Amino acid sequence: MREGRALLGTNADAQIDLRALTEGITGLDRARQLMAPEQLVPEPFAQQLRHAFEQRAQGVPVAYILGRRGFWRHEFQVTPDTLIPRPETEILLEWALELIPEDQPLTIADLGTGSGILSVCMAAERPCAILLATDISPGALAVARRNQKAILPTQSILWILGSWADSLADESLDMVVSNPPYIPQDDPHLFAGDLRFEPQSALAAGRDGLDDYRILIHQAARVLRPSGWLLVEHGHDQAQAVQALMHQEGFTRLDTRMDFAHLPRASGGQKPSL
Ligand code: GLN
Repeated sequence: MREGRALLGTNADAQIDLRALTEGITGLDRARQLMAPEQLVPEPFAQQLRHAFEQRAQGVPVAYILGRRGFWRHEFQVTPDTLIPRPETEILLEWALELIPEDQPLTIADLGTGSGILSVCMAAERPCAILLATDISPGALAVARRNQKAILPTQSILWILGSWADSLADESLDMVVSNPPYIPQDDPHLFAGDLRFEPQSALAAGRDGLDDYRILIHQAARVLRPSGWLLVEHGHDQAQAVQALMHQEGFTRLDTRMDFAHLPRASGGQKPSL
């Protein structure tokens, strides 16, 4: 820990990272670390810890150093091919689960699945549902597939390499969920902190951050069956714009959900019934 502090500093964020890396590598949780501060870790762990602290000092996100991040009830593998799961995305997941009955085989697509968190969690919570997940990145899709094999070895998800809903048939789905890239391409956040290390293709979406909503909301209107739902995550200042795009494409019953910081974080709408 002394070596870690020398590398990362003593501020609160650095302490959280040091504790998380130490827990991830040694298995000693924070309480046990605090209770036995003089305990020495075995040398192989010490080497790994030193290496992890050095990577963190260079800015590499904790989730990439450990190769995993918790989301919902599961531990997901993540690599630099995938976005790091964020707790805000649980808002979208909870909303989807409210709309998916437990006993009906709804067909649901997760567009831009990344590490697979949305499709894997929906499949786990709603075993009757039929899950499809698309991504344009072969690297991300490989990670998502590994996550499903590790977390839900006896269930299957149809993994599809391709852009948004390009390869999905008209009126074939009961629900579409997506957490697409939504950061404006010139936003300075893209070039700072953890985001520097994440795939730009998973984060940035044109001048106003809305480019991918334009495509996927339009496509969702095509692939959803009448009465199907579209739910998407978005930036804290994009609810109005996203709802307007949904309205343009004919969606009704538009609604927005807040995240843990009380910021508008997910919006959705229903395709009208016939
Ligand atoms: N669906 C994945 C997630 O929510 C990937 C999102 C993305 O890469 N923009 O983490």
